[in-house]
Amino acid sequence: MKLLLHACCGPCSLEPLRLLLEAGHQITIAYMNSNIHPASEYDHRLRTMLDFAQSQGIEVVEGPYEPQAWANAAGVFGTDPDARPDRCRACYRLRLEEAASYAAANGFEGLATTLTVSPYQYIETIHEELEAACRKVGISPVFQDFREQYPEATRRSKALGMYRQNYCGCAFSKVEAAEEREQRKAERAAAKAKREEERAPQRAAEAAARAARKAEKEAYNEKQRRKHETLRKMREQNHEN
Ligand code: SF4
Repeated sequence: MKLLLHACCGPCSLEPLRLLLEAGHQITIAYMNSNIHPASEYDHRLRTMLDFAQSQGIEVVEGPYEPQAWANAAGVFGTDPDARPDRCRACYRLRLEEAASYAAANGFEGLATTLTVSPYQYIETIHEELEAACRKVGISPVFQDFREQYPEATRRSKALGMYRQNYCGCAFSKVEAAEEREQRKAERAAAKAKREEERAPQRAAEAAARAARKAEKEAYNEKQRRKHETLRKMREQNHEN
């Protein structure tokens, strides 16, 4: 199938591209990600994508970078954690509709996306939005859950020295990701402190046993020293007599 692959970044494209090519599709990558903030980050991810695609002989089409369109569609949901699923749905919709329109206007038969590589995304929402976007323009959705490929995508992107971002894309996700990292760090520290606390009685018992063995050894050495001293004195007296 002549397939347009919507791609969010280079690392997430590695495995979907490999699998979709193996399945026999003829692929062009669509970099359509007005969600990415700031513009320098958008450019950095695009450069990474272009370098990789060029090495594979794959064409990349870039959509217009329109952060205001993203703000109007998805940014309006703000940072409220309860609104995050709606914000992400609107974000997927904007990007997948843009890609689907391009695909339909340029003779593609279907649309796929790399968004499902990340275990941090709402996979079923992506599925729904991909199908809806394709239905609107009369092309085929090629949905695949790529989460199982996440470890391999991580391994390969590291091995290739690819730029690997540490947040999803929008300004809100940058803050959320930093907060989540801090939270995980605090949880690891609390778990370590708990383990230390639980092991404290055992450690105290081991220290007491070591101290007892040391005292016993010292007492034995002292006893031996006195015995040798006594024997030495006895030998000296015998010698004088
Ligand atoms: S967290 Fe990611 S998917 Fe959700 S709105 Fe932000 S950029 Fe879009």
